Amino acid sequence: MASLSTYADRLRADGVGRVAGGGAGFLKAPGGAPANVAIAAARLGGKTAFVGKLGDDEFGHMLAGILKENGVSGDGITFDKGARTALAFVTLRADGEREFMFYRNPSADMLLTPGELNLDLIRSAKVFHYGSISLIVEPCRAAHLKAMEVAKQAGALLSYDPNLRLPLWPSAEEARKQIMSIWDKAEVIKVSDNELEFLTGSNKIDDESALSLWHNNLKLLLVTLGEQGCRYYTKNFHGTVDGFHVKAVDTTGAGDSFVGALLCKIVDDWSVLEDEAKLKEVLKFANACGAITTTKKGAIPALPTQAEVLSLFKGK
Ligand code: ADP
Repeated sequence: MASLSTYADRLRADGVGRVAGGGAGFLKAPGGAPANVAIAAARLGGKTAFVGKLGDDEFGHMLAGILKENGVSGDGITFDKGARTALAFVTLRADGEREFMFYRNPSADMLLTPGELNLDLIRSAKVFHYGSISLIVEPCRAAHLKAMEVAKQAGALLSYDPNLRLPLWPSAEEARKQIMSIWDKAEVIKVSDNELEFLTGSNKIDDESALSLWHNNLKLLLVTLGEQGCRYYTKNFHGTVDGFHVKAVDTTGAGDSFVGALLCKIVDDWSVLEDEAKLKEVLKFANACGAITTTKKGAIPALPTQAEVLSLFKGK
């Protein structure tokens, strides 16, 4: 089976290391966008690995264990003896909105160095997927850039989901600048509707605004639209694929589930990047994965298997 590697800066906000809850107590809820993507693809039969750094503490070993239990290779994980695993405390406000409090000053993920990367693992990947949180501080930023370069040289497809987390950046301007600093390297980019607005400065979610993010190395640009599905753009065609109607209880991880499914299908058949009919089928599948993920609490427990997707199709 083809291999797929995900680059994770850390176990974080909803990352491997999120502690969710409210009121009197907090529940341990491991996650983090790149780790979620790795598990999403593994659950669908893909071969994946996670690259990142954890604290040599109870949370770090818990996270490494969860990745392993879910079939994700830990060969790219290193442990920091000094710094702790990143945590995010998530509380639910009275109006239903989530509030994040991050514990990472500094956390182990921020301390990953280029020298600690498992380059053989990265070179073996068919797809290298990453976010932008690993660009915020050195030395993790240099490690991220090196890993991207090594993956690219070895022929991997570079896949980017910026995963905008404004509270982690010194300013909105800095976030935009750094997110865009690696924009032209990626061949697949997925943004949510909110990220499209943030990055373009436009409040319109339309083709013009999406295409303003297009660059010549790009093979596929996706804009996810929550329950409405997604839009897709390639050099030769673009369009929309409708979402599925489900009873959503927690949307955490929907985008990661969508990306994991998409990357898994691309590795199975690269022609989906050029064949619109095939791409639409794949995006229908990815939308179904995103939808199913919203029907259960938490990200990792809600990521679907192939069988769950097929039963959603049958129910249509
Ligand atoms: P992100 O999690 O990155 O913000 P979205 O919320 O747009 O991304 O979700 C990613 C995908 O998951 C969507 O394109 C859609 O297919 C699916 N999805 C998300 N929310 C819902 C929902 N409430 N109902 C059905 N599908 C959903």
